[in-house]
Amino acid sequence: MSKSISKVNSNNKKDFVENQFEYHLKHTLAETPEYSSIMQKFFALSNTVRDIIAERWLQTEEKILKRRELRIVNYLSMEFLIGRLLYNNILNLQVEDEIKELLSRYDLTLDEIALLEEDAALGNGGLGRLAACFLDSLATLGYLSYGYTIRYQYGLFKQEIENGFQREVPDDWMKNGYPWEFPKPEESVKVKFFGRSEAYTDEKGRLRFRWVDTYDVLAVPYDIYVTGYDSDIVLVLRLWQPKALNEFNFAEFEKGNYEKAVYEKNLAETLCKVLYPNDAFFQGRELRLKQEYFFVSAAIQDIIRRHKRRYRNDLYNLSSAEVIQLNDTHPTLAIPELMRILLDEEGYTWEEAWEIVKNTIAYTNHTVMPEALEKWEAPLFQNMLPRHYQIIEEINARFLNEVAYKFDGDLHKIINMSVFEEGNIKKLRMANLCSIASFSINGVSELHTEILKKTVLKDFYEMYPEKFNNKTNGVTQRRWLLECNPPLAKLIKESIGDGWITDLYELKKLEIFQDDPEFLEKLDKAKMWNKERLAKYVKEKLDIVIDPNTLFDIQVKRIHEYKRQLLNILHVIHLYNEIRAGKHLKVPRTFIFAGKSAPGYRMAKLIIKLINSVANVVNNDPIVSKELKVVFIPNYNVSAAQIIIPAANISEQISTAGTEASGTGNMKFMINGALTIGTLDGANVEMLEEVGEDNILIFGLKAEEIEEAKRKGKYNPFGIYLENEKIRKVLDMVRTGYFTPETPELFEDIFETLIYGKHAPMPDQYFVLADFDAYAQAHKKIEELFLNKQEWNRKSLLNIARSGKFSSDRTIEEYVRDIWKTQKV
Ligand SMILES: *Cc1c(COP(=O)(O)O)cnc(C)c1O
Repeated sequence: MSKSISKVNSNNKKDFVENQFEYHLKHTLAETPEYSSIMQKFFALSNTVRDIIAERWLQTEEKILKRRELRIVNYLSMEFLIGRLLYNNILNLQVEDEIKELLSRYDLTLDEIALLEEDAALGNGGLGRLAACFLDSLATLGYLSYGYTIRYQYGLFKQEIENGFQREVPDDWMKNGYPWEFPKPEESVKVKFFGRSEAYTDEKGRLRFRWVDTYDVLAVPYDIYVTGYDSDIVLVLRLWQPKALNEFNFAEFEKGNYEKAVYEKNLAETLCKVLYPNDAFFQGRELRLKQEYFFVSAAIQDIIRRHKRRYRNDLYNLSSAEVIQLNDTHPTLAIPELMRILLDEEGYTWEEAWEIVKNTIAYTNHTVMPEALEKWEAPLFQNMLPRHYQIIEEINARFLNEVAYKFDGDLHKIINMSVFEEGNIKKLRMANLCSIASFSINGVSELHTEILKKTVLKDFYEMYPEKFNNKTNGVTQRRWLLECNPPLAKLIKESIGDGWITDLYELKKLEIFQDDPEFLEKLDKAKMWNKERLAKYVKEKLDIVIDPNTLFDIQVKRIHEYKRQLLNILHVIHLYNEIRAGKHLKVPRTFIFAGKSAPGYRMAKLIIKLINSVANVVNNDPIVSKELKVVFIPNYNVSAAQIIIPAANISEQISTAGTEASGTGNMKFMINGALTIGTLDGANVEMLEEVGEDNILIFGLKAEEIEEAKRKGKYNPFGIYLENEKIRKVLDMVRTGYFTPETPELFEDIFETLIYGKHAPMPDQYFVLADFDAYAQAHKKIEELFLNKQEWNRKSLLNIARSGKFSSDRTIEEYVRDIWKTQKV
């Protein structure tokens, strides 16, 4: 059947959807409509949507070949946290009504079908979700681009809460089959490891190198086509899957090398088993380095293959036809890998190769925290990638010559800027290699970029000021408003139309309703719908009743000391004490937490247990629970975020100033009408600028003040503990096991880290106690504000209306303008 669907228009959409759905039930799944399960209907429906997408890909591919003047964006990222795709694709392709009608004939709703899809959790948090938002914007705006990553067999672990503790469960996300990927085995490439670099003289008498005696695996691409809103083009997110070239190496076996005989097979099987669950923390594991090289090598080979197909010639013009954006330093090996291919395989000279590389690669930095910076041990690196090591040494030697020349032999500069950190074990600093080889270096918020220039990359900024630029992060309003908040999206469409879906600045028009009580009442109703939906979710998942009429105060993000969930829960304990002392809250409040801890992060796991222990005591206190509740929602992921975030009255963005590079959760909350309580950190600074100081609650020490306190070593949390009675009371309860009488010492380490700096470089290194009073004050103000509902709704509206800057469409347009220099199709 499959009639051509190149133009699925409003007249034939309905027929098309119905026909394809039945076709897939019958022919793809061999089922009848009557006897098929709801899961089979999910697959039939996904395949129906897939058909439209595949057709659009063919059109896009034609454009890639024809429109050779367009530079292609390659976004290399170890993580793409894309979440569910069915509803997202349906909205983008604008077939929602037709599909809802079709499903109604089977007594099904789109909501219940969409729930059957597993979240593709191929990322840890903000960095991976940013990559996903960027693809959405690139597709919507119409820029030809590819995303490259790994096809992890297991995504980020699922979190269960058992007796208040986090328990990790493997995320077998493909167990039922995954409907959105297209395997492309014919475009597989070979990736090499280990071996040695061999010098030889080529036919022209030139000294050349080749990488020999390697272990090899095949990289097989699986493509997910990424749709854009109302866009004809779709993009490719290419996931690389390792596969053994040789199941068994008989030659090695014959020689008695039994390990070698099966090494390649084992390598292929273990290489991409699982995503490393660390967020903003570096752990120098060999397998992780293998993963990084595996996907980067496959991506670079793929880019070169595509380029040759597109131009039918050499690679001299590579940098004008392709740009490679590195999402943090995880794909840094793109630099020596591209050099290696150009030198060893394509026969370019060093100067020619370097010219191409340094005009093709651009680098995004995501953190200034030292524990997150990638530093690979030189012996490990050199053993696995001997030829790359050699190339990096050469890049570095040539670069240090320039440094010595430019800075008059300044030894400090040479030591700081070298790729190699000397010491007991020599290490490779990937941020330095990126800064040397990239034509662009960007931070992800104004504050973060300034801190980069002043601290970790200071010397590079002095050397190459022109490379540095800021690209404040954003989020896609298609997923983070249109898809996740139906009543608000509807209200906005009814009042100002739907231009905001592709131009978020249009929301500015909502300001005319700021003094319109009728409109504000509708806004309040939309918020109430979301709060009721969340209350239902919490009841189903946790069997806890929360009241949508209370103030919903939400902190959802990875659990990290720098994000200071501890400050939040300590303040909740303080409120508990106040209520017990007869000082009642002015408005009843529900504090909601969610987030995963890295499995090996002791302190973060302890904080999860503390939140759950406090929740247990608070929620079961017959007096306190009338005005205060605490819930920890397990397994925070993109789909959970889509339910939780629209329900917030207050968004908690309380990281220690100078630690959160940007944050993107903060933006999702703002777009959905929450007021932010936050520090002057990351993009909060720019949110304040946009929304105005009357509509956001800023508190706490500023980045320079934290910096100064650290420099002078004058911060004394023990002094605060002694002097501040409220804080002392709270900490003593934590320390002596008030919330866990069965294990009274459980939280002693939290106390000792704050007061004595146990397991830490200094006491309370994230300044929790220093900011406590200011935080409590800001919360008092929140209560006052919430008493006046109309005034609150007005502030909520202004947050929505002034959130235009925080669309990833704006971010992408800035990348295009300043870095990628390309045009729309
Ligand atoms: C947006 C998002 C994040 C990032 O949140 P931050 O508050 O910026 O740390 C993390 N995880 C998920 C699932 C998200 O959707």
